Amino acid sequence: MTQSKSRLDAVTAATMWREASVNGHHHKPRAGTAAPVTNQPRIEDLFGEDVFSERVMRERLPKETFRAVMRTIKHGDRLPEEVADVVASTMKDWAIERGATHYTHWFQPLTGLTAEKHDAFVSPDGTGGAISQFAGSALVQGEPDASSFPSGGLRATFEARGYTAWDPTSPVFLNRSGDTVTLCIPTAFVSWTGVALDKKTPLLRSMEALSGQAMRVLRIFGTDKGVSRIITTLGPEQEYFLIDRNLYFARQDLLACDRTLFGARPPKGQQLEDHYFGAIPARVLAYMAECERELYRLGVPIKTRHNEVAPAQYEIAPIFETANVACDHQMLVMEALKRVAPRYGLQCILHEKPFAGINGSGKHNNWSMSTDTGLNLLDPKTETHNNLQFMVFLCAVIRAVDVYADVLRASIASASNDHRLGANEAPPAIMSIFLGDMLTDIVDQIETGQTTRTLKGGKLELGARTLPELPRDTGDRNRTSPFAYTGNRFEFRAVGSSQSSAWPNTVLNTMVAESLDFIASALEKSLGKTPSPVKLNAEIKALLKKIVKQHKRVIFNGDGYSAAWHNEAEKDRGLPHLRDSVDALPIFKGKKAADLFAKYKVLKREETESRAVIFIEKYCKQVTIEADTMLGMARTQYLPAALAHQTRLANAVASTEAAGVDVDAQRNFLETFVGKVSAMNEAIGTLAAASDHHDDDPFQHAKHIKAHVKPAMAELRKIVDDLESIVADELWPVPTYRDLLFIK
Ligand code: ADP
Ligand code: MG
Repeated sequence: MTQSKSRLDAVTAATMWREASVNGHHHKPRAGTAAPVTNQPRIEDLFGEDVFSERVMRERLPKETFRAVMRTIKHGDRLPEEVADVVASTMKDWAIERGATHYTHWFQPLTGLTAEKHDAFVSPDGTGGAISQFAGSALVQGEPDASSFPSGGLRATFEARGYTAWDPTSPVFLNRSGDTVTLCIPTAFVSWTGVALDKKTPLLRSMEALSGQAMRVLRIFGTDKGVSRIITTLGPEQEYFLIDRNLYFARQDLLACDRTLFGARPPKGQQLEDHYFGAIPARVLAYMAECERELYRLGVPIKTRHNEVAPAQYEIAPIFETANVACDHQMLVMEALKRVAPRYGLQCILHEKPFAGINGSGKHNNWSMSTDTGLNLLDPKTETHNNLQFMVFLCAVIRAVDVYADVLRASIASASNDHRLGANEAPPAIMSIFLGDMLTDIVDQIETGQTTRTLKGGKLELGARTLPELPRDTGDRNRTSPFAYTGNRFEFRAVGSSQSSAWPNTVLNTMVAESLDFIASALEKSLGKTPSPVKLNAEIKALLKKIVKQHKRVIFNGDGYSAAWHNEAEKDRGLPHLRDSVDALPIFKGKKAADLFAKYKVLKREETESRAVIFIEKYCKQVTIEADTMLGMARTQYLPAALAHQTRLANAVASTEAAGVDVDAQRNFLETFVGKVSAMNEAIGTLAAASDHHDDDPFQHAKHIKAHVKPAMAELRKIVDDLESIVADELWPVPTYRDLLFIK
């Protein structure tokens, strides 16, 4: 009976937690406050509390020092050593006033997570006491041991030296954990030989690359006055699941893999579409609010929260920021979501596909380019057909997505995202662009060489006098497109929920930089020194016409989920269809990707190759952990439960027969059941044999996994999920989908 106890105990505990938190027992308002409307400080007072922000620096730094730091932040000038000393000492005082004892260089190694190594401010003063110290050199540079981070062959284990370098463009902040406060300095992470071992360094380089090329385009238009650089902007929408923590601990697969490896579909999934944008459950709302408060303190501009499509699925989204800061903040968002959940008896799951049969989670990557004076270069304005500069940037993106579709696809490849892409609920693995009616019409006009009109959305009459007349957008939305234009930006929807935003944005920036380079070079050549406005106009239109003709195959406004599109995309349009990570990741081993990154100094050749190796190794490790977890659960949980059920059936048949009653029908039933249990046992053997495999070449190993391990996993799962609907509920050893998804 111990097995049935674990599931039922977990469910009971989960239900009790839920009741208690909904009734407010876990979170009583502070005593002594006189019936406040809320016991929380106002967001406006909280926002940026724990950030060493521009405002703090202006208040605390000497004027000259402040100006020097701003020059570094805004224009990338190097910070003189004396200035760094002053900044560091001010930073230390500010942090210590807020309870900090330690500082850390905070960086993003290729694990995809963040890393930190704390050092105390305090040092002995030589007379038996201690002083707190923080020199400019310690702010600007750190030296963590680099040998235990993935380097994809860039570094041998004994070659340990690595450096972290302060990234002054991303604000310094305080990390709080209970009473322990740590000053966190966002940094880039490189090896002693100077190769990038992190996600931030290439992202910063890609932003530089794009900026340089986009400035050339502005110069051609003469719109570069007062603009010193182009910024890429990013607003990542994060989807996630929340489940009860008691249930989470009762599932080995969730604990080890962040997803369920077994589980039959519940009768009610998301069919009724009653969860999306539904009223947020009380416990979840309390959790969201606390996450938001922690993030506000860190200066993360959280704007949006709502229920997502699947039961137990939610979304959090910030206001967009400079891509570099947005990527750092996105890491903080994922960490806060995870950190706060246990306080509410919840577990936050960031995996792309925690549950089969219902929607998975993505991280919609809203991306644009803007001048540092605030002009969004992908804003079409009202008379789009006259806005030639916009058309150039639009066509640059269209060309980039067509030319580098495979690289873009590979940038979001992972074992976990494989469950999402191409499945019937997520954008397909074929990269295409949705433009909507208005822009499609513009692009069609560009192709004819004459742009004369801009389609208008008009007004929407709602038919009830008391309701307002609504201005209508010029185009509908398309949820099925992996790369959709949404009015003033592109939304790259295929990014995975658990992945760092840095890498897909690095790839996106670099390929668009290449496209802008292509356009600027062609125009600079054809236009000569001082072209007349007429010539400028004619040359640009001629070039864009060529680009549209050549690359319009990547534009698709229809249903991206449909089989007809997959057929058309591959057969008629010749678009690459890299179905999974095993197909996609080798792209980073190839010449095309290496050339692209090398040309724009985003990654040296060996840096690109190292990423290919790291990503594919991670794929192999992840699936192998899943296979081993499946084997463990099947052998020690599901098989014993099925055998217990079989014994019950057998006893029932035997005792009924002994009583002299005819049991032929039930004997057949028992035989069928025994057959299923034997099939499970056989599937365990097949999976064990398939996963017991080694190959020195991770790309070969991945192929083996795809051909043998994954099919064996699917087969075992099918059998166990089938048994779940037959075996006595009380014998079933783990919480079911029904428990996991509906105890909110
Ligand atoms: P949706 O309706 O697509 O779910 P949300 O409001 O949830 O939209 O998220 C849209 C995201 O796009 C927000 O983070 C928003 O700040 C961001 N965004 C808006 N304009 C830009 C821009 N110019 N560049 C990058 N991101 C942007
Ligand atoms: Mg949204």
